[in-house]
Amino acid sequence: METNCPNCGGDLGYGKDENGNYTIPICQGGCKLDPDMAAGLRQVMELELVRPTTKRLVTSVFFDLPKEALTPAVLVDFEIHDKEDWLRLYYYIKSSRFSPMALDKALGNKDAIMDLTFTE
Ligand SMILES: [Zn+2]
Repeated sequence: METNCPNCGGDLGYGKDENGNYTIPICQGGCKLDPDMAAGLRQVMELELVRPTTKRLVTSVFFDLPKEALTPAVLVDFEIHDKEDWLRLYYYIKSSRFSPMALDKALGNKDAIMDLTFTE
């Protein structure tokens, strides 16, 4: 992904995350990136690494498509049976703590999906 640093206009590179994937944005000029921007860039990089079903769910939420636009595979893999299931995933994906890779890891595991999307 080609993006420039908003502070110095220099190139952005990507450092390794805890899983060894290059998803952590770093300004080559040494600036400290705004945390919200860094989190957003990381989400974009992670989205490149997830399975098609996960990508489909995330892009549906990003584009505000209705639940009816989801494929049967998405509904099954993410245990979406009713409006409540859908809204939990929807709000998680729209939240600042959203991680495409964490969501991808939870695919097919109802308990993991519930843990991930739990809101207090
Ligand atoms: Zn910079």
